[in-house]
Amino acid sequence: MQKKYLMTPGPTPVPSEVLLAQARPMIHHRTPDFNAVVRECVEGLKYVFQTEASDVLIFASSGTGAMESSVVNLFCAGDEVLVCYNGKFGQRMEQIAKVYGLDVTVLSYGWQQVVDPADIAAHLAAHPNTRGVIVTQSETSSGVLNDVEAVGKIVAAYPECVLIVDSITGIGAVAVKTDEWALDVVMTGSQKGLMLPPGLAAVTVSPKAWAAYERSSLPKFYFDWKKYKKNLEQDTTPFTPAVSLMIGLAEALKLMREEGIEHIIARHARLAEATRKGCEALGLELFAPAEGRGNAVTPVWVPEGIDGKKIVSIMKNKHGVTIAGGQDDYAGRIFRVGHLGYFGDFDIITTLAALEMTLLELGYAFEPGSGIKAAELVLLEG
Ligand SMILES: *Cc1c(COP(=O)(O)O)cnc(C)c1O
Repeated sequence: MQKKYLMTPGPTPVPSEVLLAQARPMIHHRTPDFNAVVRECVEGLKYVFQTEASDVLIFASSGTGAMESSVVNLFCAGDEVLVCYNGKFGQRMEQIAKVYGLDVTVLSYGWQQVVDPADIAAHLAAHPNTRGVIVTQSETSSGVLNDVEAVGKIVAAYPECVLIVDSITGIGAVAVKTDEWALDVVMTGSQKGLMLPPGLAAVTVSPKAWAAYERSSLPKFYFDWKKYKKNLEQDTTPFTPAVSLMIGLAEALKLMREEGIEHIIARHARLAEATRKGCEALGLELFAPAEGRGNAVTPVWVPEGIDGKKIVSIMKNKHGVTIAGGQDDYAGRIFRVGHLGYFGDFDIITTLAALEMTLLELGYAFEPGSGIKAAELVLLEG
């Protein structure tokens, strides 16, 4: 037997309370029992997304379903939108917007750069007909955190332009103040900070976004936001929901409310800092720039002369610790340690210990124990 540790930024570990809730016998979704579950999920999500002004809609889909829904519900073919990206997931929004025939302008940055809000301000000033700005808050491929609060201030000055935020690995890891920051549409997926298996997505819709919905003419059916809103008014869903996942979500949200969103974010900040300090103590170099590091995932450069794919495979096969490799151009060149959702201090210590043992085996020179020591000091301070 080998004990396993899932240290990836999605899917993430699921607490046993949530697993047990999902294992309950099936109930019918058109019942008062399930109406109560829907209510708990919506109220809990509003708390996590820090919103009272926006509606929160829940879909049976992965996160990409929520991304696609934001395009079909807000725009008409030919609408001008600005997609800002510094990694793989931001690029997916460009692909979706193009599939639906939007007039897409891209502000693209390197994967080690932060999106500059001043560039967005300049683009909107030059193109006042822009109908939407799309930004990834926490770019999971690069670990970079973009300043969506600053972007919110800029876009708020344009009454016909909505701000869409992919916060799929932001929610539950970093601050997301949907109302206060004027974020019109914010989305997440269940297998990230919500501590659930994959299969649910959630999206917030502000009054400004509803106005864009009324004008939009792109075809939509399964992801038609109005259908979800109307049904939510009766505490139900337009189509058969993912019943067990929703029961799990209600349980996960209960755990999140007990801990408190501020404490959840502080815990993530501590675990991320311990991971970074641990890796740096091993002489490894962090990938994301100091001015934009999120709390969900820590990408690290593979040291010179070491095979990055071997780091990931030895950690998994020999030590039972699954971390993520790099994507696209960075495959084999970086590895990524996820610490998003159901994580505590000793998950970080375990991972750093497995990393040290793996690096020793691969012949990388460092002082054994120096990574976990540095992490322990960070964790003790917290
Ligand atoms: C995981 C993720 C997504 C969505 O991925 P799915 O596989 O469709 O759930 C989108 N954006 C970011 C930033 C992500 O981390």
